[in-house]
Amino acid sequence: MRLSRYFLPTLREDPKEAEVISHKLMLRAGMIRRVASGIYTFLPLGLRTLRKVEQIVREEMNRAGALEVLMPLVQPAELWQETGRWDKFGKELLRFKDRKDHDFCLGPTHEEVITDLVRGEIRSYRQLPLILYQIATKFRDEIRPRFGLMRGREFIMKDAYSFDADEKGLDKSYQLMYETYERIFTRCGLRFKAVLADTGAIGGKESHEFMVLAETGEDTIASCPSCGYAANLEMAEAVRDFQYADEEEKPLEKVSTPDVKRVEDVARFLGVSPAKLVKTLIYLIDGKPYAILIRGDHELNEVKLKRALGAESIVMADAATVAKLTSAPVGFAGPIGLSGLTIIADNAVKGLKNFVVGANESDAHYVNANYPRDFDIEAFYDLRNVTEGDLCPRCSSPLELTKGIEVGHVFKLGTTYSEAMGATFLDAEGKERPFVMGCYGIGVSRTMAAAIEQNHDENGIIWPMPLAPFHAILLTLSPKDTKLMEASENIYQALQEKQVEVLWDERDERPGVKFKDADLIGIPYKIVIGKKFQKEGKVELKSRRGDEEHSFTPEEAVNFLSEKVKG
Ligand code: ATP
Ligand code: MG
Repeated sequence: MRLSRYFLPTLREDPKEAEVISHKLMLRAGMIRRVASGIYTFLPLGLRTLRKVEQIVREEMNRAGALEVLMPLVQPAELWQETGRWDKFGKELLRFKDRKDHDFCLGPTHEEVITDLVRGEIRSYRQLPLILYQIATKFRDEIRPRFGLMRGREFIMKDAYSFDADEKGLDKSYQLMYETYERIFTRCGLRFKAVLADTGAIGGKESHEFMVLAETGEDTIASCPSCGYAANLEMAEAVRDFQYADEEEKPLEKVSTPDVKRVEDVARFLGVSPAKLVKTLIYLIDGKPYAILIRGDHELNEVKLKRALGAESIVMADAATVAKLTSAPVGFAGPIGLSGLTIIADNAVKGLKNFVVGANESDAHYVNANYPRDFDIEAFYDLRNVTEGDLCPRCSSPLELTKGIEVGHVFKLGTTYSEAMGATFLDAEGKERPFVMGCYGIGVSRTMAAAIEQNHDENGIIWPMPLAPFHAILLTLSPKDTKLMEASENIYQALQEKQVEVLWDERDERPGVKFKDADLIGIPYKIVIGKKFQKEGKVELKSRRGDEEHSFTPEEAVNFLSEKVKG
């Protein structure tokens, strides 16, 4: 591709609309443009990378024996009513009516449509297992679309669904998809980790997320370097740490803490460590009021809370509700003398002695509170985020925390959808049974963004070869020199004959501009043809990562790149 004929609107400055690196760089590199919040157009350069991710995904899904289909974005309400999700799925489900007043939605996911397809077509256990997939547009009316392709409203997903006769079959399909995902992200050239994930309320049995490792990731992963245990923060078990402090219980005492509310401030004011404080958080859980006790230096994990109580909805109480329930403003709630709320606590609270809690009145705390001497706790659970140095639940080595971006998700659904929709087959005995299902997603467009978050520097993107929109960029430094242009043209043709995808910058621009653009768009190899060619017939070949630099004849350069592309 000749750059003078290409559509590559690069930007020098960071666009104001972008907060994260991948979003900034994709806009600056002329890969995407915003159409509306969370909705983007892919420009030619961006589309090339999107297609590369798609192609790797498609080849590996096909290799696993999965079959590609294409389902509609627009889905009728009836199917969603069958599973009850028409009412349960929140506002992320964009609903609308057609001209005949029929209800429809834009598909955020395709369990209903695929289950409907399969129940109509597959009758016998002999036709199983079956794995169907598609690479298609999804729409989720995300409450906070942000970070460009990372969390869009309209985005490209690969979603797959497995249908098996029994649990054993599902285990096999799940394992096959898990291994396929490992192959996919390895082929993409990304550093990633599969981690245990929460299965949520729909009664799933097992789930893993595939995380691209990047410091800028929104997700936290706890992993054990000794035994390989890895889980996202919602699943990482905090190993109980309630050794009883070797202290005498001291008498309870109320102290004045004027306008001192935050844990750190209270701790400083009273001269104790935050670990000697217990926070009391007020929540409405399935509509009922709860007080949740967490050690001052720990953080509540709402997903753990939801799972522990088997709750459907958990909402942090607003200031007015807190005031009503505790008779004190936010910041002074405590378990002592609290009535009308269910009090539960994180395991770590159990071992504390002589700790500080709010006194349920303005500007006051209790010191030397002790459980069970001073108040009751209904139940203890693992409710907190693990922290660096917490012990691995499997082997007791210290855990490490790293950041990641969720690019894929595999999930054992079981019979939730097939039962709700009456999707059955006949087993070997002629008995009707529901399909045992799994579902498997990859954020195709998010993977592009994640690749950039992981691979960039201050000058721009550094594409891993398999995802690069072009393998090489040929920079002709003096396009007015006809000899140089002729030699460039020859290299350009020779590269293409060897299947090297090359972008030829033959624009009448200063060398500085060409180098800047080449670095910004992150093409793995630059071939520079300029003075050195005029003098010694050599071109310079440089890797974008900066770890390779060669002086080559044009022929050597072509052969070198041809080998690189073959992998
Ligand atoms: P998240 O927790 O990030 O909201 P999710 O768990 O809702 O994602 P899944 O339903 O598991 O997502 O979807 C499968 C994959 O689709 C995810 O692993 C992610 O890579 C991608 N994905 C989900 N939501 C978005 C989005 N709004 N924009 C881009 N990609 C997305
Ligand atoms: Mg997910």
